[in-house]
Amino acid sequence: MSPSPTPPTYDDVLSAAAHIAPQAHRTPVLRSRRVNESVGADVVFKCENFQRMGAFKFRGAFNALSRFTPEQRRSGVVTYSSGNHAQAIALAARLLDIPATIIMPHDAPASKVAATEGYGGKVVRYDRYTGHREEIGRALAADQGLTLIPPYDHPHVIAGQGTAAKELFDEVGDLDALFVPLGGGGLLSGTALSARALSPDCALYGVEPEAGDDGRRSLREGSIVHIDTPRTIADGAQTQHLGAYPFEIIRREVDAVVTATDAELVDAMRIFGSTMKIVVEPTGCLGLAAVRNLAAELGGKRVGVIVSGGNVDLERYASLLAS
Ligand SMILES: *Cc1c(COP(=O)(O)O)cnc(C)c1O
Repeated sequence: MSPSPTPPTYDDVLSAAAHIAPQAHRTPVLRSRRVNESVGADVVFKCENFQRMGAFKFRGAFNALSRFTPEQRRSGVVTYSSGNHAQAIALAARLLDIPATIIMPHDAPASKVAATEGYGGKVVRYDRYTGHREEIGRALAADQGLTLIPPYDHPHVIAGQGTAAKELFDEVGDLDALFVPLGGGGLLSGTALSARALSPDCALYGVEPEAGDDGRRSLREGSIVHIDTPRTIADGAQTQHLGAYPFEIIRREVDAVVTATDAELVDAMRIFGSTMKIVVEPTGCLGLAAVRNLAAELGGKRVGVIVSGGNVDLERYASLLAS
């Protein structure tokens, strides 16, 4: 089955919420008095670092796989990712008893390969400098009858990612602004569907690493801009371009895309660790970094931040904080 040709709507987010409810965690919403004082706003954090497998990606993956036909379930799923989407698909597939094949680069971190295999996924390696992962995925799908679930450019994935913001608005009510990490745009576009339905006047910001501001440029130019893989510590947002489905929603619903530098991400990571006592991976720090940059404009407002994930090796975490 190829992706449904219809773009996702808020009804699809509601349906996704029902589909994932038996398996996904309803993650906590945290606040910090010290952050509020330093920013001068009332900030709420939706903590997807406490989601299953450590990031929001479980939501979209489980939603997509739970809709497979019996035949698709028997044949299996294939995806490409070296990061959280790989682990999300592997875990969701194990829970639903679906064979999973994950295409990963030869130089993917051993810990990520091990985590994916630990969830029962079959890892197929490719050379990231000579191979083309989308083509390998499509070829495997065609040869073995597998269903390809890409990391962000898929209506069921987008609808699943939108359930995190739905939970946030259900819990805290209206917000004046919401900050969302941006890679390929699955999380931001799904969040937009929930925000427009539940808090229509909320200003919506995508936040991407400064080294890879293709999302900001895409909004400006009105078409999807492609870039080389950006050099940044935010490995969950090292995408080269937005997805087609996400872009159509983002261009319509998102107020602005802003950026954060790697140094600002480390500062935010330190605040999460020392003040709030939570481990957040660099990409998960994009929202807080942007809120700190824009503090002057956010005074007295109710501000939401999606903390997208917490998967970072402890050695890397320690060395980033020491830098
Ligand atoms: C994948 C990911 C993102 C970016 O999500 P997109 O849907 O690709 O925009 C942000 N943070 C974390 C932790 C991720 O794993």
